[in-house]
Amino acid sequence: MQLYQTNELKIYNSITGEKEVFKPITEGYVGMYVCGPTVYSNVHLGNVRTFMSFDLVFRYLKHLGYKVRYVRNITDAGHLENDADSGEDRIAKKARLEQIEPMEVVQKYTVDFHNTLNKFNNLPPSIEPTATGHIIEQIEVIKEIIENGFAYVVNGSVYFDVLKFNETNEYGKLSKRKVEDLIHNTRETAGQSEKKNPQDFALWKKAEPQHIMRWPSPWGDGFPGWHLECTTMSTKYLGEHFDIHGGGMDLKFPHHECEIAQAEASTGQSPVNYWMHANLLTLNGKKMAKSTGNNILPNEIFTGNNDILDKPYSPSVTRFFMLQANYRSILDFSNDALLASEKGFNRLMEAINNLDGLKTASTSSFDAQAWKDRCYEAMNDDFNSPILIAHLFDAVKQINLIKEDKATITKEDLNILKGTMHAFVFDVLGLQDERNTQDTSSDKLGGTIELLIQLRAEARANKDFATSDKIRDELAALGVQLKDGKDGTTFSLS
Ligand SMILES: [Zn+2]
Repeated sequence: MQLYQTNELKIYNSITGEKEVFKPITEGYVGMYVCGPTVYSNVHLGNVRTFMSFDLVFRYLKHLGYKVRYVRNITDAGHLENDADSGEDRIAKKARLEQIEPMEVVQKYTVDFHNTLNKFNNLPPSIEPTATGHIIEQIEVIKEIIENGFAYVVNGSVYFDVLKFNETNEYGKLSKRKVEDLIHNTRETAGQSEKKNPQDFALWKKAEPQHIMRWPSPWGDGFPGWHLECTTMSTKYLGEHFDIHGGGMDLKFPHHECEIAQAEASTGQSPVNYWMHANLLTLNGKKMAKSTGNNILPNEIFTGNNDILDKPYSPSVTRFFMLQANYRSILDFSNDALLASEKGFNRLMEAINNLDGLKTASTSSFDAQAWKDRCYEAMNDDFNSPILIAHLFDAVKQINLIKEDKATITKEDLNILKGTMHAFVFDVLGLQDERNTQDTSSDKLGGTIELLIQLRAEARANKDFATSDKIRDELAALGVQLKDGKDGTTFSLS
């Protein structure tokens, strides 16, 4: 029995505007695509929040026992400055300014992106495809859209015919916009005048002679439009119809709207069952922007080297702060909020450390099972992490009372409490007790892994292969490889 069989998970679906019961296309499996970064600068804290929100979704789906294929792309070509069809390619521009190759820009900021998300303890996706690695596939999708009559070729570029598409399909259904009201580009530029209608968007752009990032195509040398890569790579790795598509709120239009149109125009079917959008992060009540100086980079939080915070904060405290808001609410980052989160985080970690020393009694003054159910209810309600955290603090209060002999707990209830606290705090919320990682960590870690190896052996002896596989896979995801040999199981750390 897997947890997903007894938990009814509801997801807020952006396309219907309602919380819906989650039913995957194939029982037990989830396909999830999330729009990744355009790697032309250091990862923005707002983007970190988006990726952390989907890390929470990924972790909870895995916790429920689903086998999740999580695909998150790297945009390394085709994303122009103004998000539409004009302006310079963001990566090519950075390469020109820094006088390096575009792929050096891509490498530098992909490494930064991975390092930053690792610090925040985000799990890596199952597949991380790049736009430049899928040029051939993107050209194939364009050919299909042209064949189906929804795109046209002008002077070496290919444009999606929005009005034609809207005759048989509905363009604007995700962002709730009407085609008549849509004008993609406000500025008239050279490329735009080629379009039949201003609503149309580029699938392939002809490369001007000075454009460095170019590939051959049936229409001449050029590069793919930004929206196309996500349609191509999501359907390549998850199928023409998959479960969840996520991204930042700012991607709803035009990016995700165009993705839906491209997929429907090429395959004839709607690609996604559940659309999820993570909300913005503001800084001191205002939009974050490099140009106004109202901006902070993740590393500046950890080092304290910034004008916004009084002192440095660790990645786990920052993560805890972000998860204290629902992913669909706007969250404001400020010195006071971080300070309060740090206090809360320390209280939580201390309570977890105190769990081991608690005395048990013949009766409980705390209904651990009812509390555990409430924790699941919170997460089943569209991944409501702030409510979950409120329940975790109810437990913190109980742990402190029991420690002071003002409350009692039975052995069974203590086991439920321990197991649930560990599962939600470390596995689902992905927090780490950074205060313990330096000194005694290696002994504790070794002991913990030995215990898990023992539990896995017991599960296998009982033919409970779901549990034994779960232990092996979850450890592997954390970088602990188990090796079964003649003399038992050994482990190695990567
Ligand atoms: Zn995308």
